[in-house]
Amino acid sequence: MSDAAQTTLNALVAMSLEIGRPERDLVILGEGNTSADVGDGTFWIKASGTQLPQATADCFVRMHTEPVCAIADRPACSDDEFKALLEAARVDAHDPRRPSTETVLHALAIHEMGVRYIAHTHPVAVNAIMCSVHAQEAVQGRLFPDEIVVCGPAPAYVPYTDPGFALAVAVRRVMHTYADRWGMAPKVIVMQNHGLIALGATPQEVDNITAMYVKTCRVLLGAYSLGGPHFLTDDNVDRIHTRPDEGYRRRALHIQ
Ligand SMILES: [Zn+2]
Repeated sequence: MSDAAQTTLNALVAMSLEIGRPERDLVILGEGNTSADVGDGTFWIKASGTQLPQATADCFVRMHTEPVCAIADRPACSDDEFKALLEAARVDAHDPRRPSTETVLHALAIHEMGVRYIAHTHPVAVNAIMCSVHAQEAVQGRLFPDEIVVCGPAPAYVPYTDPGFALAVAVRRVMHTYADRWGMAPKVIVMQNHGLIALGATPQEVDNITAMYVKTCRVLLGAYSLGGPHFLTDDNVDRIHTRPDEGYRRRALHIQ
């Protein structure tokens, strides 16, 4: 294995253990998945059936990025075809582990959005909102400056979609719409009745985004209990998103 592949894998294992810490309530059992771009046309993704709280190097499968992305170009894909195409895109064809069902959306974020590290989780606070009748409305506005500094000017929202092939196609569409609107890749993707995806340049950025978005959702739940959120205005949001001292804070937090 190359030095880059080994270094990336080590960083991904460390990030996964942090994300999987039980007291953070981000995932339980086999929930969630994490990935990292090696930078040579391959990436690491959590293997199906492994658990983030017990992550080791053996929990990750190395994949060829472009053939995984190409799965999302198909007009349709049966469950059997999907599984076979994913297995065919492994770097080591004899690897007995199966990559996560959500491998395709990870590959698309890496290849088409330039993201390096990704953590997909099912935090209770996020899903309390994503599983409510107010899911889409609740994420339409921004609540406080640090949400914008860490998580970007808005989250990208994906209506409920069948996990695997259909979800990857939906996430791809939403990421490109977001990039056209904001001129940057989303840092947060929220999926109705499902969970959170944090996308970043470093493991620390992904951890920061996850923690701050969970906090945002806790604040939202409190705000709804007191009559509903008071969102910042578009001018307030643009001011925070573009002001130089916030750019300095972003760099200090290892956020792009
Ligand atoms: Zn999930």
